[in-house]
Order: sequence, then C-alpha cells, then structure tokens
Amino acid sequence: MSETTIAIVGSGPIGSAYARVLLESLPDARVVMFEAGPQITERPGESVRNIADPDEKARARERSQGPQSGAFRDALGIPATAVVEGMFTARQGTHLFDFGGEGSAHASSFPAAAGATNVGGQGSHWTCAIPRPAFSEKLDFIDDDEWEDLVSTAEDLLHKQSAAFSDSPVGAAIRTLLDREFGAELPEGYGVSTLPVAGDPQPDGTMRWAGADTVLGPLIEPGTGTAARFELRDLHLVRRIAHDGTHVRGLVVEDLRTREESFVEADAVVVAADAFRSPQLLWASGIRPAPLGRYLTEHHVVISTVALDGERMSALVSDDELEAELARRATNPADPVAAVNRIPFSEPGHPYSAQIMYAENPPFPLDASHPAFENRWGYVNMGFGVRKFPRVEDGVTFSDDELDYRGLPNFTIDYSLDADEEREIAEATERLRRAGDALGTFIAEPRLLPFGSSLHFMGTMRAGTDAETSVADPYSRVWGFDNLVVGGNALIPTANTMNPTLTSVAIAVRGARHLAQELGARG
Ligand code: FAD
Repeated sequence: MSETTIAIVGSGPIGSAYARVLLESLPDARVVMFEAGPQITERPGESVRNIADPDEKARARERSQGPQSGAFRDALGIPATAVVEGMFTARQGTHLFDFGGEGSAHASSFPAAAGATNVGGQGSHWTCAIPRPAFSEKLDFIDDDEWEDLVSTAEDLLHKQSAAFSDSPVGAAIRTLLDREFGAELPEGYGVSTLPVAGDPQPDGTMRWAGADTVLGPLIEPGTGTAARFELRDLHLVRRIAHDGTHVRGLVVEDLRTREESFVEADAVVVAADAFRSPQLLWASGIRPAPLGRYLTEHHVVISTVALDGERMSALVSDDELEAELARRATNPADPVAAVNRIPFSEPGHPYSAQIMYAENPPFPLDASHPAFENRWGYVNMGFGVRKFPRVEDGVTFSDDELDYRGLPNFTIDYSLDADEEREIAEATERLRRAGDALGTFIAEPRLLPFGSSLHFMGTMRAGTDAETSVADPYSRVWGFDNLVVGGNALIPTANTMNPTLTSVAIAVRGARHLAQELGARG
C-alpha cells in the first residue's frame, strides 16, 4: 500500500465523524467505510424524516429493519405481530435484536434493544436531540477546556440549532407553565429551556434534520478533494478483524450482493457498529478483554401524553398566535413535532432529563367521545430519562456455539435494576405527573417503557484510564492495540440520562484527532 488506508465499520454518525476528521487531517489518506445495510436515501445517510412522500419514507424505514424487513423477515419465519408490547420493530426504521425468529438474540431482560441496518445507521431515524452531558454525566478523563473544544466541534459537525422552534408561542407557553411548577427547584443555567437539536431550519420554518450525511459533509459532495478519497460500500458485512494480538492488518468483508468474501488491508480500523454489534465483532475476531460487553447502561424512559389545557394556554397565547402557528405547521404535515422543550439533568436536585414535545395530534388515535378529542391547543408527549448506574453484572455475552442470523456469534443480554434505580424511576414518575398536571389532562398515564426502549445503549466498550474496567483507552484505542479504535455510545462510561450522540461524536473527534496524529507521525 502506498497511501494510508483507514477502514471504518458502520456508517452511522460516529463512523462518519471518524471519516470526516481523518480525511480532513490527513491529506494523503483514504477511508473505506463498510456498512452492512442498504443505502436508503439518494444522499447517503440522510435522515428519513426529510423525505416528504409518506410511501417513500415508509419504504426507507422498512429497508433499514434488517431481519425484520419484508422478505428477510418472512425467510426467518418472524411473526408480523408485536414482539414487545405495542411495538413490532421497536421504532420504525429499527429492528429488535430479540426478534423471535431464527438467529434472534436473547434479550428477555432488555426486550426493546434494537438497532438499524442501513447507510446512516440509527442516525437516519433519530429525533436529533443533542443536549450536552452535565455534572456526573461528563467524562472525568477529559479536562474542561478540551471538552469544550470537542463538544463544540461535535455540535458543528451535527449542525446544532439551539433555537429550533424557540419562536413558537405555544412552546414558550409550555415553558412558562413548567417553570412555574419546577423553576424554584432547579439550579441556575439548568432550568426549563428549549432542547438543542441537529439540523438546518428552512426559510418556511420547517427543519431539515441532520443525519450521517450532515457529518460526512464534503466527503459526499462530488468534486471535493476529500470525496475523491472516501469510499462507502453499502451491503458489505464485516465478519472479522484480522490482527496479530497488538496490531490490526485489515478486515474480512462479505459483499452481501454477491456473497463473496474478501480481505481488505488497512493501516488502521475504526469499529463504530453500535453498542451490541461492535463488541460482537471484536468477540468474533478473538479480541475479548474482560470488560467487553459489560457495564451496559441506558436511561430508562417514563412517558405519558397530555392534552394541553385551553384555559391556561389561552392566558399565555392569543388566538391569532395559535392560528399562525397551526398554519406554519400545516406546511409540513409529514413532520409533526412543533416545539421541543426540556428540563435538563442537574445534581443533586433533578437527576433526570425531561423532554417535552409539543405536537398537534396525539401519537395514538383518540376516540371521538374522548373529552380531549381534537384538542385545539394540541398535546405534549413527555419522557423523563432516568439513569442506570454502571455495574459489571449488566451486559451482553457472546456464544462460541450459536450463530445469529448473520452468522456472527449470537448474544444474550442480562440486565436488572437495584433499589436505588427503582427509587429514581418512582421519583421520575412522580415528577412526570406534576409536569402533566401543570400542563393539562393526561390522555396516557405515566408508564415505564420496556428496558432497551431508549435506544441509547452505553458502556459495553467503555473508555477509561484502567484496562481492568474499560475496553478502550482515553483516545478510544482498544487497550493493547496500536491501530484499532472503537466508537459509539458504547464508550460512554458514566450514568447518563441524556441523548448520547453528541457526547459520542465528541469522543470520536478526540479519537480521530489522536489517530490522525499517530498515522501522520508514522508517515
Ligand atoms: P449507528 O447509527 O447505530 O450505526 C451503526 C451502523 O453499523 C449500522 O448502520 C449497522 O448496520 C452497521 N453495522 C453493524 N455491524 C456491522 C458489521 N459487522 N459490518 C458492517 N456494518 C455494520 N440519539 C440522540 O442523541 N438524540 C436523539 O434524539 C436520538 N433519537 C433517536 C431516535 C430513534 C428512533 C433512534 C433509532 C435513535 C435515536 N438516537 C438518538 C440514537 C442515535 O441515533 C445513535 O446514538 C447514533 O445513531 C449512534 O451512532 P453510531 O454511528 O454509533 O451507530
């Protein structure tokens, strides 16, 4: 090989952040990115929420659902009925790991665990909320100045908007009502506010939501210098990392169109294939440090839906303002979220992350006889994120005897709560009740979603300073290897209540800068 080649496994926001930073830092390098799923949008990695045509959007989501999509689902004999209460594919565009057919993972204690298999990964289906971690959620091995630089770079890569929908009068009224209820209990700077999101506001007031395409940026603009050095191969499943125990030589890759296997030589490998499938690939490749798959966390989610109270809302929003807001939203009926508010995590008083989404319609059909049917003021969907403390007992284990539907070592997830975690869930439910009472009338009672529903899986390849309790060093290199780097939410070692992608992109920026330095020094 004359030039430096970096192979990346997974095309979600994290693999894309690596590709972008590496190619912009190393003028002679090339990046080859392998993605097991298909390209589902014309622009690689774009959010499916930007697709206006409902049929096209549904098709893109279906094609992302790996073993739970169309013909593949039928071939595996998976029933086309609910697997977990109220859910078939967990969320549209994703597929359950424990899907119940041949080669399904075993996750009865974490039943809603799911992934997406498509160019852009889950980043083609995400809600785009990108809050910063705070207090004990932050990583203690990165100092504040460097963190500020990393997280701002990550916000730029994701096109952060802190002001999305902030001009919505209904959104502002919701904040006022919540502030009256909670404001006095919250520390300065951590009060009721708008939720930062990733995307670009359009002149008509709608959003173009960010996906991996946003992170890749110039790499997918034909004619740019970096685009010439970037190659994305969809429907290519990475089966094994070839290595000698300390140094990686390349990847064994199967082209899923032809079923042919080939070896791709690489100077460095980045694995960003989600919090279950990345450790699975390491395990399949004989890279099995003791903490691999351990310390699994998510944030538990307590949700409910409330019909906004007309009397309280009309005291804060005029009829004209409401009509103007409804007219604006009518321009984009395919994307019904209209304002996104939050109460962020703070310690010690509010160790929860609350998201309050205003929408014109409830997320489920209401009977015409329901008092809140066609509520003129609309509805809010509320979710309180509750933390899970990392424990070595919670995690994923891999089998040497049983293969999954892709022919990789099958996995089993074991997960349980302790008394402190149960208590925080109960307290969050109580606060959700207060928030709902402050805003209107419950049309869906608060309930805890099945474990795994957050889709924010962390800890299974945690980064840290101690090889006994972490898989990766502070620069995301797998301990003991000089050119194997891992990325994704799996690296987050703390107990988090917030949406983790921004943090994972920031960690990836650090890992990519360090890898670029090392590869540059090696010439
Ligand atoms: P992914 O995006 O999961 O991408 C991994 C890719 O690796 C997949 O495409 C997969 O097919 C591929 N892959 C796996 N194994 C292999 C292999 N062996 N060979 C080749 N390719 C492989 N996060 C937030 O921060 N805020 C939110 O508001 C938010 N909302 C969400 C809403 C939904 C409905 C969903 C589904 C997710 C949401 N998330 C949110 C989570 C967010 O999407 C993820 O944190 C993010 O996509 C993780 O990026 P990633 O690149 O690490 O992994």
